[in-house]
Amino acid sequence: MPHTISSFDDLKLNRQLLHAVEETGYRSPTPVQQKVIPLTLAGHDVMGIAQTGTGKTAAYLLPMLMKLKYAQGETPRALVLAPTRELILQIAANLSELSKYTDLRSVAIYGGIGPKSQIEHIRAGVDILLATPGRLLDIYSRNELVLKAINTLVIDEADKMMDMGFMPQVRRILEIIPIKKQHLLFSATMPEKVIELSHEFLEFPEVVEITPQGTTAETVAQRLYQAPNLKTKINLLLHLLENKEDYKRVLIFTRTKKNADNVFKFLERKKQGPLRVIHANKGQNSRINAINQFKDGELRILVSTDVSARGIDVSNVSHVINFDVPIVYEDYVHRIGRTGRAHHQGVAITFANEAEMYHIQKIQKLIKEEIPVHPLPQAITIEETESWEKQEIARAIDTFRKKEDPTFQGAFHAKKKKFSPGKKIKGQRKKR
Ligand code: AMP
Repeated sequence: MPHTISSFDDLKLNRQLLHAVEETGYRSPTPVQQKVIPLTLAGHDVMGIAQTGTGKTAAYLLPMLMKLKYAQGETPRALVLAPTRELILQIAANLSELSKYTDLRSVAIYGGIGPKSQIEHIRAGVDILLATPGRLLDIYSRNELVLKAINTLVIDEADKMMDMGFMPQVRRILEIIPIKKQHLLFSATMPEKVIELSHEFLEFPEVVEITPQGTTAETVAQRLYQAPNLKTKINLLLHLLENKEDYKRVLIFTRTKKNADNVFKFLERKKQGPLRVIHANKGQNSRINAINQFKDGELRILVSTDVSARGIDVSNVSHVINFDVPIVYEDYVHRIGRTGRAHHQGVAITFANEAEMYHIQKIQKLIKEEIPVHPLPQAITIEETESWEKQEIARAIDTFRKKEDPTFQGAFHAKKKKFSPGKKIKGQRKKR
């Protein structure tokens, strides 16, 4: 690059785009934008290793808008694939802001609602298509989509795409779009499957790595509390949330739907709202409404499981609280990436019991940093661990130890043996 890029004016964007960028409130390009925009404008394939919150969406949308210039023909010339409806809607929102001074037409297609109105929009003419893989293939198979004119393809959140099992659909899509085109791939992490995919469809890509693999955004301050059990976690959560001045917009993650519901009910009883809960059992509309309400500042707290939280794009989240530790370690990076987004400072707090500390060790390896441990605040009542939870924790620790050392017998299992004599012990008794 000839010189460092410190402003959008250095990026050779046209007037319409600069105007839109200014109105959107972006003052300077983020690092991923500084790198990806010139490379893409120069026609390279790009592999971007960047998590959400880095400004990656605008990094590929701006050069795309620049290249397409104005509405032309009836069929799409650019395609963005993303794994979830939420992410597609978020990209669509970004796109409508950035393209507002152009006449370019975009259509978002995704599952969960009927395809009829999406097909009508496509028929009316489209330049940029945003799609989840399944819905794209569905509409294509109805002969309602012509992909011959595609000259730019972006795959966003490729790691999630692979996690969700979309590889066969993505391969099929690669078969049905023209070969000679520009490809971009974005992923927060680079597991083997994503690397494989990148070999399949990127040609001599320029690799842009914004945060080293699995690292967390610099604008996030991380904190870890060791809480022995669920009840203590609940006490801690309430204690933190009572500081309403700092904890203005809080995203709480739980691993299970059950915990999400329980945390939600508890906080509602304690009048910590306005709040809502989202997880896979909630309808699609209810999830989108909750996310929008949270975005618009109508909610103080949103409780969510990992899957539902994918693609939530909310700036100004003051705190992310991991009520429990994610066991898919990349999810930690995704979870805390919801705070401290582009130029905002955020706090990510994690609660971990003894068993979860094993996962924390693995997460620390992935993010290549230690999460500072904070002592539990004095005011917190530390509850006794109930026996079912003791067993659950002991069992989890055993599983871990066994994974690390296959010869390990397991304290929990050994104990169980002692209380419920098996055949061998019976036999021994007979002998005596
Ligand atoms: P993304 O990583 O694309 O999910 O973007 C995260 C958030 O950062 C979105 O809310 C964008 O609108 C915002 N954003 C993108 N680029 C910039 C920028 N240059 N300055 C400030 N905010 C930005």
